[in-house]
Amino acid sequence: MPSEFDIIRQYFTLKQNRSDVILGVGDDAAILDISKHPQQQLVQSTDTLIAGVHFPEDTSAQDIAYKALAVNLSDMAAMGAEPAWFTLAITLPDDNPEWLKAFSESLAAISAKYNLQLIGGDTTRGAFLSLSITISGFVAENKALTRSKAKVGDSVYVSGTLGDAALALAAWRKECLIANEYSEYLYQRLNRPTPQVELGLLLRDYATSCIDVSDGLIADLGHITEQSAVGASVVFENIPLSEAFNSSLTDNALKAPLVLAGGDDYELCFTVSKSKQDKFNQLIKEKNLLVTCIGEIESHTGVRCSLNNQDIDILEPGYNHFEN
Ligand code: ADP
Ligand code: MG
Repeated sequence: MPSEFDIIRQYFTLKQNRSDVILGVGDDAAILDISKHPQQQLVQSTDTLIAGVHFPEDTSAQDIAYKALAVNLSDMAAMGAEPAWFTLAITLPDDNPEWLKAFSESLAAISAKYNLQLIGGDTTRGAFLSLSITISGFVAENKALTRSKAKVGDSVYVSGTLGDAALALAAWRKECLIANEYSEYLYQRLNRPTPQVELGLLLRDYATSCIDVSDGLIADLGHITEQSAVGASVVFENIPLSEAFNSSLTDNALKAPLVLAGGDDYELCFTVSKSKQDKFNQLIKEKNLLVTCIGEIESHTGVRCSLNNQDIDILEPGYNHFEN
């Protein structure tokens, strides 16, 4: 039976050495050299993932590690911050060494890719697997992207495609079928979302507001409109959908709910002012970025969405943990 300390030493002490980490995993706390980041502001956020709530219970250890980091990196992306460090509080139902090894290797791989260092955490045993990550990053003074500065007349954009992860989840729940040829792609979109960190950094010079789409487009754009005291109109036909989504979805009644209220895409939704739009569109072309204008900020309240020039009823808002 390995002790908690064996587990920490073996699986949570990753071989990483950012120059701004004076002391990482192993002491009572980490020591970080913030003087390495002059004129920068520290950006922090926490996201928890619970088995059966945030990922299906049969998700692999590799995918769980990936997703836990990806959703936290996505919050950094949405703020326009450059990720630096994270802590991991993990509750394990058992100490399965194969599971821990696979988890640890995947955690090391994705954190290396983003130059992100694991600097500490907490390891406990409990009935359900649960992970809570606190991530820290840096942004130049007053350059962070927030939800509160969208203005009437700004264009609303979204990165990537929407609905893929929600479609995969619906298929996993046997609420619909997806064709074999698209199954792998769609499950990857659910289990291995790509955090839009690079895009977030670029947006610092263009976007007036930004959020990552974790709970569904309408709900998340709704956070921008509410905190900016504006409204938004979205044209459904303009929302980018993947070929896998379009080709796999057989039940047309599911389309709008999946695209508008389906969570887990971790794309960025953001606004760009009219005055910067030409330059921004030029940048999109130059960098070959997949971002699409889907609507506009208006003076009414709330988020409207039209299809064939008719408002569509938005029934399900986004995922709400405290809803019955
Ligand atoms: P303490 O009892 O002083 O709180 P712990 O025994 O909880 O310390 O942790 C010992 C060290 O291991 C600390 O540096 C802590 O940050 C680190 N640690 C514990 N669990 C994890 C984990 N899951 N991932 C990364 N570091 C961890
Ligand atoms: Mg201590």
